[in-house]
Amino acid sequence: MENNITGHTRLVGLFATPIRHSVSPMIHNTAFQELGIDAVYLAFDLGVDRLSQAIDSIKNLEMLGANLSMPNKMAAVPMMDELSEAAKLVGAINTIVNHEGKLTGHITDGTGFMRSLKDKEIDVIGKKMTIIGAGGAATAIIVQAALDGVKEIAVYNRHDDFYTSVQKKLAYVQENTSCLITLHDLEDKSALADDVADSVLFINATGVGMQPNIEASPIEDFSIIREDLAVYDVIYNPRETKFLREARLRGAKTANGLGMLLYQGAAAFELWTQQEMPIEKIKPIVE
Ligand code: NAD
Repeated sequence: MENNITGHTRLVGLFATPIRHSVSPMIHNTAFQELGIDAVYLAFDLGVDRLSQAIDSIKNLEMLGANLSMPNKMAAVPMMDELSEAAKLVGAINTIVNHEGKLTGHITDGTGFMRSLKDKEIDVIGKKMTIIGAGGAATAIIVQAALDGVKEIAVYNRHDDFYTSVQKKLAYVQENTSCLITLHDLEDKSALADDVADSVLFINATGVGMQPNIEASPIEDFSIIREDLAVYDVIYNPRETKFLREARLRGAKTANGLGMLLYQGAAAFELWTQQEMPIEKIKPIVE
């Protein structure tokens, strides 16, 4: 590999644990090299116990910024000088931008999701969507969809210990956007069928169906899926979950989580560099 690191090279860090499996260093370093940007992206295996020291380093080492993944996305919020509108509503960040010593926290998962819809020519603006799940990925999607002008979102979650806090969170997002957001128990199958019937997009934002449980699915009755419905699964391992396979067999347009993964990275890259990520060069890394 050609060595382009100089005395001017700036650092971007990824703070998470576990982290050694991440494709993000490959994505961002390829993009830096492709565009001739004098920066490197390195992964640091650390959790909440060392997070505040790591975040101080962004200022002390004049880093461009950082990415955060589990378990650091919520813990970093109070350590920021500023938050983007979406980060405030989600209550979590995955990207930090250092602007002359001032740190701004962003969440790019939702923007990544919305950009991946454009790629697939799925138009949900001014329309209704139904989403299963109300965890980290789902909340980022719901917030960005609401901010971007989706008219109505029906959220389905299992009735677990978090249900009441999810209800409060969604009410807060609704108050701060012009989107109508409703929460339902995933067990309420007739309500789910009605909401999916009115929706243009149906999303699985749970980990149900992920490796190694690839025959699991968040729904059992696939007759609610119709040909003119778009169906999205945030999971990318496997590339086609049972949920997506059944949707495809019913003629629906389908999309897996690779687009969201790619474009959340692109959005972070653009925040650090003010340059567009060379998507076509990066796609083969994640596919
Ligand atoms: P999380 O733990 O924050 O939330 C999990 C959600 O799934 C919750 O709503 C929970 O109630 C629901 N759930 C869990 N088990 C369930 C079950 N058996 N039946 C019904 N619902 C169930 O997790 P998260 O961070 O939101 O991640 C969810 C999925 O999204 C994971 O598969 C993760 O890999 C994926 N993800 C993908 C991207 C991407 O870029 N494509 C980004 C983030 C997360």
